[in-house]
This record gives sequence, C-alpha cells and structure tokens, in this order.
Amino acid sequence: MSEKFIYLDHQATTPVDPEVFETMAPYFCQRYGNAASRNHSFGWDAEKAVDLARQKVASAIGAQAKEIIFTSGATESNNMAILGAARMYREKGRHLITCATEHKAVLDPMKALEHQGWDVTVLGVDDEGCLNLEELRQAIRPDTVLVSIMHGNNEIGTLHPVAEIGAICAENNVLFHCDATQTVGKETVDVGEMGIHLMSFSGHKIYGPKGVGALYVRRRKPRVRLEPVVYGGGHERGFRSGTLNVPGIVGMAKALEMSLELRETEQPRITALRDRLQAKLFTELDHIKLNGHPERRLSCNLNVSFAFVEGESLLMGLEGIAVSSGSACTSASLEPSYVLRAMDVGDELAHSSIRFGVGRFTTEEEVDEVARRTISAVQRLRAMSPLYEMVQEGIDLSTVNWSAH
Ligand SMILES: *Cc1c(COP(=O)(O)O)cnc(C)c1O
Repeated sequence: MSEKFIYLDHQATTPVDPEVFETMAPYFCQRYGNAASRNHSFGWDAEKAVDLARQKVASAIGAQAKEIIFTSGATESNNMAILGAARMYREKGRHLITCATEHKAVLDPMKALEHQGWDVTVLGVDDEGCLNLEELRQAIRPDTVLVSIMHGNNEIGTLHPVAEIGAICAENNVLFHCDATQTVGKETVDVGEMGIHLMSFSGHKIYGPKGVGALYVRRRKPRVRLEPVVYGGGHERGFRSGTLNVPGIVGMAKALEMSLELRETEQPRITALRDRLQAKLFTELDHIKLNGHPERRLSCNLNVSFAFVEGESLLMGLEGIAVSSGSACTSASLEPSYVLRAMDVGDELAHSSIRFGVGRFTTEEEVDEVARRTISAVQRLRAMSPLYEMVQEGIDLSTVNWSAH
C-alpha cells in the first residue's frame, strides 16, 4: 500500500490534540491524587484541577459550574438523563418523547423504559432528517415528563432547531434533554438561550480523550432532579458516584476550551474542505444523493449515497481511507442505517451511503485524494453493474418487469 492512511471519520471519534495530551500528562504519574481525598495536598491538587475544568466546561455552554456532572462519556450522560428523569418524575407521568434519528444511547434507554411500563413516542423525520415541530407539540400530553432530541445528528449532520424545541418544552412544562455531543465546541450551544434542562456531551468528539463526558443538569428555573443510575460514595452531588477521572476531565476541559478558541478559523476551514469534497463528487458522478439537510447541518459532515454501488464494495475500494458506511454502521448487522431508513432513503441507497467526516487536521491534499479515489472506485464498480448500464441506455428501471421469464 503506497498511499498513506487518511482519517475522515471525525463523527466517530477524533484524535487527541497534542496540546490536550500535554495538559493531561502530569495527572497520570505526578499529580495523581483522588479529587475526593480531603486530608492531603494530592487530593486538594486534584480537586482544584477538577474545579477549574468544571468552570471551563460550564462557561463554554452558558452554565454554572455546579450544573456540570462529569461522566464516562455521552452514552452514560444520555442514560443518566433519561433513566434518571423518568424514574425521578414517575409520579408526574410515564410518557417520554424522542426522535427516530437519535443516537442508540438515547433510543436504547428509551426502549428499556418502555419494557418497564413507560410510554414512548418516537417522532419521525422528513427526507432531510428534519423534525416537524407541530408534531412535537401535538405529541406532548399531560403525563409527558421528558423530551429528548439531539442537536446535530452524527450520521447525516442535520441540525435540529434546539431553541424552538426548548421553547415548546417550556410552554408545556416538560423537561428537555439534548444530546449535543456533535455540536458542543463547534456550533453555538447555550443552555439558557436554548431552554435546555439536561445536556449530554463527550470528550472524544472534540479532540479530547475517550472515556470522559459530561451531563449538564439545570439547577434553577427549574431545579432538575435525577434518580442516580450509579450509586456509591456520593460524588458529583450524588448524581454519579465513582472516583473522578481527573486526567480525562482536565483533558476534556482543555479540548473544549481549544475548540472554542479555534472555532472562528477552524469551522470555516472545515466547511470549505467539506464543500470542496462535495463539489468534486457531485461534478464527476451522476446518480448520487446528499443525505441530510443541504444547509442546516454540521460543517464537517458529508453523507452521500452512490446509486448502483454496494457500500461494502465501495469501502473496500477505499482501502487506506477511514470513512463509515450506512450499511456497516451498527457493527456486524447487515441492516442499513436506521437513520437513513427513518428518512425514507430506501434500502438500496442506504446500503450505498458513505459518511465523510472532515476534521481539525484534515488537509486539502487529503480531501482531493479522497475525492479522486472515491470517484474512480464508484466508476469502476458501476462499470460492472448491469443496472447502471441499463440506466445509461435510457431504460427506466421502474418499468422493467424483473420476474419475466
Ligand atoms: C459519539 C456519540 C455518542 C456517544 O458518546 P460516547 O462518549 O462515545 O459514549 C452519543 N451521541 C452522539 C450524537 C454521538 O455522536
């Protein structure tokens, strides 16, 4: 393999920024105190580092330090918010609302609650992944406790109108949880202005370490309470027991701080690279489809379906390039992406979809290389496709009687 490896899967995870790593390093072998140790300077030092990190993370999202609960990542934060709120407010009612394109870390706890007697409404989306706010309004009932809707979608990039959703929840006195894992540090996120009561995010999607995340829990107007999912020493105001991951927390705060500092120059650069890739693909190839909203989406995300091409074969043709496919997304299953299914993309096109995710260290040369390789792989695969040949000859496939002998 002569070409060097290209990483274009930044919605799955990001590399740790070397500056973040440097900031974390002392907290492994030298400043290794337990932030809960009250009797010596090792503990005080760790506690001070966590306090500072908490302050930074809070101010990045317009929150107070006390409203930040550190977790092991967005999966845990989502579980804490959904299971915790549902159980704490079970007397008020047992109805929850979410959306079909949410991350599994939202859909699966919802499903678990459904098995335990809760009623869950799953809102659909249109063919661009957008939710209908009127449908949301209609779905709210007197016994609705929580609405959980994400900000930016990890597969197709579509952004939901979070502030409007927050306003609808507030009008109806319903808690609003938002999975903002893909947008914190990239898009403007302000829990006050957006009417968010609970918000999940993660370190490793913003050039911080894996295994650390946070949950924002509103303390005023209203004061949100959660039944803990993890019990123990009463750390994190009793919401989430367990010795704090001090290096991870320090790293996540540094990563978020850097993302906000770099945002003004980084986001336009990333958008330009993404647009460049998109333009090249759409100029050179016919019968391809953009998945997600054309404008209201993450600046780094490009999700495209290539008709008459099998996603897995295309991935094989892109050896040495890390991207993700809509047919391989949920690990070993052969089911096409449930997100694309919810958008009615059709199984054929869903199976042929590729998600390209541009990041901080992506270069123009890399994008051009990926465009070139993708175009040639698609053309090569289509050259072997009888269906594509028929379409080229002007045959309308919908009129073909496939079962004729
Ligand atoms: C990555 C991701 C998660 C899971 O986060 P972890 O920190 O890996 O548990 C949840 N939601 C969204 C939208 C994500 O992109």
